[in-house]
Amino acid sequence: MIKIIGVIGAGQMGAGIAKTFLQNNYSVILFDEFPQALENAKKRLSLTSHTQLINITDDFDCLKKCDVIIEAIPEDFSMKVGLFKRLGDISTPQTIMASNTSSFSITQLASHYLYPSSFLGVHFMNPPHVNPVVELIKADQTASSVIAYVKSLLNSIQKTVIDVMDSPGFVVNRLMIPLINEAFDLLHFGVADALSIDNAMMGAAKHPLGPLALADMIGLDTCLAIMESLHQQTGDPKYRPSLKLKAYVHAGLLGKKTNQGVYVYEKF
Ligand code: NAD
Repeated sequence: MIKIIGVIGAGQMGAGIAKTFLQNNYSVILFDEFPQALENAKKRLSLTSHTQLINITDDFDCLKKCDVIIEAIPEDFSMKVGLFKRLGDISTPQTIMASNTSSFSITQLASHYLYPSSFLGVHFMNPPHVNPVVELIKADQTASSVIAYVKSLLNSIQKTVIDVMDSPGFVVNRLMIPLINEAFDLLHFGVADALSIDNAMMGAAKHPLGPLALADMIGLDTCLAIMESLHQQTGDPKYRPSLKLKAYVHAGLLGKKTNQGVYVYEKF
């Protein structure tokens, strides 16, 4: 019986994943290296009824108590590898280790963790406490029993699990992020303004959010990191990141998280 879920990275995904488990009465340890991130997470979680179930901490050793750990730090390969190496020191072969990566190879990440047969990918969608879908990715090394265990765990928090092969961007981001990238190219070449691009896709394709507003919600830094990862992993020029997307990121306009991306937002 699973007792404690660890979540590493208290940003928009980590805080949302923690919230999902809390809402289903699991005990959660939410760890982040940065105190400001922990403060923001407290606001995001707006804790009222589940305070006794959560420990929000910057103490790495607290993660020793966890039965399942879900990593949700930025989409940076070497940063994730560094973390998984460090996690090998505090976990056991029984600790289930999951990455919420949007695009990296789960097999490659697993190879940097001490117990690769306990490693897998669980790709929650944004916002994790609202969106029902989770992609479940088996590394070459993952034990089948670990997949079955995590599937039942995700079902217990009312998630719809999609089994996906380990492949760059899996299913959702292989489709969604190139669409977003193309929208930035349309902007770049002046084909239409931002609002028109978004309204066109909401009206014509029945998307609940236009691609540029969606990019602002995901974080433009994350969108660029995923596009670069698709490009680097496949070597296919069709995944070349848009110069317009790069320009926003280089200017520090990352979307909702910085109160400005393609659109301007009220302060968080
Ligand atoms: P974010 O920038 O909002 O949050 C990342 C958090 O990780 C920050 O709070 C940061 O302080 C923390 N962090 C950085 N280094 C750390 C470390 N070494 N140890 C502990 N904490 C650390 O990012 P996010 O949007 O929540 O994305 C997190 C992961 O989830 C990424 O891999 C991303 O690709 C993936 N993801 C994102 C979305 C999305 O829509 N944003 C959707 C699905 C998956």
